[in-house]
Amino acid sequence: MQQYLPEEPLKLVNDITRQTAEPREKAFLVGGVVRDMLLGDRSLHPGLRFDLDVVVEGDAVRLAQRVAETTNARLVIHHRFSTAKLRYERFVLDVATARKETYARAGALPQVIPGTIQDDLARRDFSINAMAISLGLEDYGDLFDPHQGKSDLESRLIRILHARSFCDDATRILRAVRYEQRLGFELEAQTAQLLERDIRMLDTISGDRIRHELQLILEEEQPELTIKRLAKLGVLPRMNRSLKGNGWIATKFDLARQLNKPTQLPLLYFCLLVYSLSEEALEQFLTRLNTPAGLSRAMRHTLRLKTRLHLLDRPSLRPSDIYYLLQEYDSLAIQTNAIASESPMVRRNLESFLARLRYVKTTLDGKELKEMGVPVGPEMGKVLQLLHKAKLDGEVRTRADEIELARSVSPKLER
Ligand code: ATP
Ligand code: MG
Repeated sequence: MQQYLPEEPLKLVNDITRQTAEPREKAFLVGGVVRDMLLGDRSLHPGLRFDLDVVVEGDAVRLAQRVAETTNARLVIHHRFSTAKLRYERFVLDVATARKETYARAGALPQVIPGTIQDDLARRDFSINAMAISLGLEDYGDLFDPHQGKSDLESRLIRILHARSFCDDATRILRAVRYEQRLGFELEAQTAQLLERDIRMLDTISGDRIRHELQLILEEEQPELTIKRLAKLGVLPRMNRSLKGNGWIATKFDLARQLNKPTQLPLLYFCLLVYSLSEEALEQFLTRLNTPAGLSRAMRHTLRLKTRLHLLDRPSLRPSDIYYLLQEYDSLAIQTNAIASESPMVRRNLESFLARLRYVKTTLDGKELKEMGVPVGPEMGKVLQLLHKAKLDGEVRTRADEIELARSVSPKLER
């Protein structure tokens, strides 16, 4: 822990050891951070977030409150789940009471009661995520590994903990492939068999949960690896028959990374993923994933713009033509088409809209035109649009140019 954890989280972990000593509770570091620590620095997930998960055999909320008092964290408590989140500038600490879960039926959220660390690890997804490191005073730093996660890390295997795992929670199908591809591991043989057997269990998962897992995939460094593998396994078509994970996706995801800021990538990937869908298939996809309005709009615009790209494939277009063709579209849809299109001219036109044309403004505004004597109403709209068009096309540049143009179209205006 001393080697791996940055100074601040390490201090926090040690603080937890002190805070739990007196009420004789016991805390553990669990999940991803343990996995990544054992993998060593090289395979650390270089995400933006640094998450620490702590499980306590005892009262998680009280522990979090005490830790929050001695540090400057933002504390959010979920009493219903006996969990608390402490937000620091550079990382997040989740504290949960050790719990035992039972599934009333496949896909449902589990019933939860307090339990031991063993119970808590037994409900987890994969052996490599089901290890804990003790933060107790006596055995500080000891590894707790009831499911042979360390051995699976060494053999580079993703293994579920019991044969019903994918039935209990089919989001694990997506998680398994995501970790497999992120880490360059393999699905352990029986896990692979059960995964393929249980693909239909994805139908038991709510749209929100499926979408959340897809989002996590698209936040990976190279999501196309996971998408491709999901396609090959037959998982992708279970979400939507028309989804493809082919070479086109890989090429375009890669191009998206070259052209865009990392924060924009997940949404762009989402739109690229549905690029080859028919409108009808897209609507099924949006419904299945209970997609929020903003993203749905961007995806619909993406497909609509795709059918109009030929209008942008002409050398004689003026900037204002490009502007009026594109101004109605969601900018994510324009970005997506700029990546997806094979025509250099279309790409250039889309990019010039994104980089420049959409920001072009006239210098004169309605107020100034009114002072010059342009009547408010349709006449004003006409003059403003004319100025804007002239500015887009470079026919006016300065304020004086604009005044002159306004006067030439409304000759009555005073000098
Ligand atoms: P990442 O590096 O992707 O954040 P992580 O292991 O921290 O990996 P989280 O999604 O943050 O993953 O979840 C934290 C832990 O919770 C996991 O390590 C795993 O033990 C457990 N977990 C998460 N989702 C599930 C699930 N669907 N079923 C069982 N256990 C889960
Ligand atoms: Mg995590």
